[in-house]
Amino acid sequence: MLDSLLTAEQRALQAEMRAFVREVPRQLLLDMDAERIRYPREFLEKAARQRLLGLRFPERFGGRGLPWQSEIVALEEVGVLGTSLACLYSLPSIVGEAITVFGTEAQKEKYLRPTLAGKLTCAEALTEPRGGSDFFGTTTQARRDGDAYVLNGQKRFVVGAEGADYFLVYARTNAEAPSHKALSAFLVERGPGVEVQHVYGLMGTRGGGTGRIYFRDVRVPAENVVGRENGAAEIFYRMMVPERLSSAAGAIGMARAALEVAARYSNQRKAFGQVIRSFEGVSFQVADSVTKLDAARGLVYAAARATEGDDANRTRRLVSEAKKFATQAAWEVINHAMQIMGGIGYTNVYPIERLLRDARLIMIWTGTNEVMDLVIQHEYYKELLSGQPAARDVEADAAEADKTEEKVFE
Ligand SMILES: Cc1cc2nc3c(=O)[nH]c(=O)nc-3n(C[C@H](O)[C@H](O)[C@H](O)COP(=O)(O)OP(=O)(O)OC[C@H]3O[C@@H](n4cnc5c(N)ncnc54)[C@H](O)[C@@H]3O)c2cc1C
Repeated sequence: MLDSLLTAEQRALQAEMRAFVREVPRQLLLDMDAERIRYPREFLEKAARQRLLGLRFPERFGGRGLPWQSEIVALEEVGVLGTSLACLYSLPSIVGEAITVFGTEAQKEKYLRPTLAGKLTCAEALTEPRGGSDFFGTTTQARRDGDAYVLNGQKRFVVGAEGADYFLVYARTNAEAPSHKALSAFLVERGPGVEVQHVYGLMGTRGGGTGRIYFRDVRVPAENVVGRENGAAEIFYRMMVPERLSSAAGAIGMARAALEVAARYSNQRKAFGQVIRSFEGVSFQVADSVTKLDAARGLVYAAARATEGDDANRTRRLVSEAKKFATQAAWEVINHAMQIMGGIGYTNVYPIERLLRDARLIMIWTGTNEVMDLVIQHEYYKELLSGQPAARDVEADAAEADKTEEKVFE
């Protein structure tokens, strides 16, 4: 977040988060990138011991009851570690949102509390091989059978698939109703009928246990439905707030880290007898990067503030703008960082190449940036055409505005 906006409490949280991030062993990052570690459970356990998971959630469940503006401070810091650890850190906040807002007291006791305490780990399973953008086309099915549902289907690209204890899974529970009224959300424990396969290599974001999950006749107790049967649309829209805000805020931290490495390098590296930062071709890339990151911080902050209001459509638009802008900015900043460093930036002598590989994903996941555009334009038009008068009738300010016969639309 922008330093000038931080409260004293947020500064303290930032310092606390920085101390936590500093202690993450370098070897963990290297082992995850090399896939020698496939699921860093102890990272989550340590965060939980320091009460750093699910900061927004009530204290009685292990959170700190903080507002979104504070959580984005923490998320920027953890983003410095790259997308795998930032994503695993965010999952209790994402899955926890569904449980906190829509779950029963029993679900909060059984799943939320132990998740924030680091005793259980979670993942979310939305995407299917047939597509992620068309979420409501979900084909995974759950059929009611007595006091349980029988779940069949598969999900892919699930971060944490290889290590999480339970999954938030969306499945079709009504074959006839339109999709928005046909899906339900379930808390599904790893167990009989749940098979995870590691079926692909990843360009980056490694070591987070990303895999495919097959559900074959999995019996899920009826009390594990989150919210109403066939009511998952509401949960999905709500979860997209933490999903996309965490991508956005984490992206800023990751790009900040790359920029700092490159800017320091440019202050030491010489070419033609001068440090390279004295060339505008280099220092203006730094200026552009700093500006982009601050603009992204401003937008993420505005989106975080919007979550406190009661205008869900405006929040959806701002959160989508923040996700799109911050992830695109992060990609460009890390790309600049590599350019500033020349050939050595392309090697593993510096971490830029890993951050660049990680950063490519964030424009794709939690809704692609094209899907963000869909949401942004949809919400903008809805607001514009809602019947509210314009602040001023600027159209009438044209010299020949009264020539209505020239305003032809068909
Ligand atoms: C490493 C990794 C980790 C992931 N983690 C998770 C996870 O933990 N849980 C989970 O559920 N999912 C996860 N995902 C899935 C991710 O969210 C999806 O890949 C993403 O939503 C896109 O879905 P898709 O891959 O099926 O692409 P598609 O939906 O097939 O999209 C392909 C292309 O078409 C474009 N497109 C599609 N529809 C439209 C449209 N209407 N307008 C304009 N353009 C459109 C898209 O923007 C994209 O460019 C992860 C993915 C990866 C690679």
